[in-house]
Amino acid sequence: MILESVPRLGAELLALRDGLGRALAEDVYADQDLPPFDNSAMDGYAVIAADTTGATSENPRALRCIAEEPAGVTVTERVITGTAVKIMTGAPIPPGADAIVPVEDTSAGADGRVGILREAVSGAHVRRAGEDVKRGRIVLMSGVRIGPAEMGALAAVGKAEITVSKAPAVAIVTTGTELVDVSERLGPGRIRDSNSYSLLGQALNAGARVSMVERTADERSELERLLTLAAQTSDIIITSGGVSVGDYDLVKETLAKLGEILFWKVAIKPGKPLAYGRIDGKPLFGLPGNPVSSMVAFDLFVRPALLHMQGISDVTYPRVSGVVSEDLRHKPGRREYVRAVTVWQGEGYVAAPTGDQGSGRLSSMLGANSYIVISEDQGDLRAGGKASVMLTGRR
Ligand code: AMP
Ligand code: MG
Repeated sequence: MILESVPRLGAELLALRDGLGRALAEDVYADQDLPPFDNSAMDGYAVIAADTTGATSENPRALRCIAEEPAGVTVTERVITGTAVKIMTGAPIPPGADAIVPVEDTSAGADGRVGILREAVSGAHVRRAGEDVKRGRIVLMSGVRIGPAEMGALAAVGKAEITVSKAPAVAIVTTGTELVDVSERLGPGRIRDSNSYSLLGQALNAGARVSMVERTADERSELERLLTLAAQTSDIIITSGGVSVGDYDLVKETLAKLGEILFWKVAIKPGKPLAYGRIDGKPLFGLPGNPVSSMVAFDLFVRPALLHMQGISDVTYPRVSGVVSEDLRHKPGRREYVRAVTVWQGEGYVAAPTGDQGSGRLSSMLGANSYIVISEDQGDLRAGGKASVMLTGRR
């Protein structure tokens, strides 16, 4: 429902160097063969394979070296029978030659000769033009998120500029009379607003740009002012706190007043009181205030929305099957996301919970690279038992 209700953003042109983490908004084709020409995969000698027949270290074949060819240079000398061209990795195969003898299989001979110590078959250590990608073939499809390998592939096909989806502008509004900024003094009963920073990091990691970060006390008029402003300046609004059933939980009623609530409460743990709605067509995620609940709800609901808005096709984290390292208590009813460190051990994945799983304990997130997902109809898990593990990677 969320993915259907969020808007798709337009595209913009970007220098390739600024593309990391963005979503490609065009199909990209190879402008030429990759590699563009037949070239040597080794440092050695370009030869005619038939000239090396029967060569061994006891019985080397002597060839006359007629030229040297570093990478980036093209020799015009033709290799004819009885001759060789000294060649470096990446240099074009000279005319006439059909194999490379690695330098390790040669010995330096007298008066410009080289000894071939091993037979080479035709095509040995030759990288063919187009063997990686053929000219005109699709290299990357629209909707792919650009990582380091995509950066390299785009450079290889000459894309100095790329068309990417616009980065969603995210407004973060944290609520809570108890909150103070990281730079402020803590008074009695006050706590630091940590969610604005974890959400900032999560939003940036999802390819968004953050257009506004504001904090408000649990106060109707100020919350209303900030949400109105957020809807005017941003593509998507994230609030933190004030969405539960407490007397000062004002996000839902403000959302209902300024726009519409599409749903409230999800049967997950942590993160149950999540609210979702719209103000002036802008999606609003009302995340719970508990620091872990806020992060989990972001991972499960906001991140897919942000990726989908950018046209990215793959919006969920991968799931694997793993073995849990300790007993886990679970009461059926809600789907639980247990923060864990998951590693490959011997035959498979082993997922170790990161200690106490209270939704206020942000330390359970530190170092975690995964969630053990306990389904809503499941009971306790035993150490050594199988579970579904969502691999988020360390964030
Ligand atoms: P709430 O969802 O507003 O009922 O808040 C639930 C718990 O999360 C309370 O203990 C709050 O103090 C805490 N909390 C709410 N907002 C934040 C925030 N921005 N940073 C850290 N903790 C918060
Ligand atoms: Mg609150």
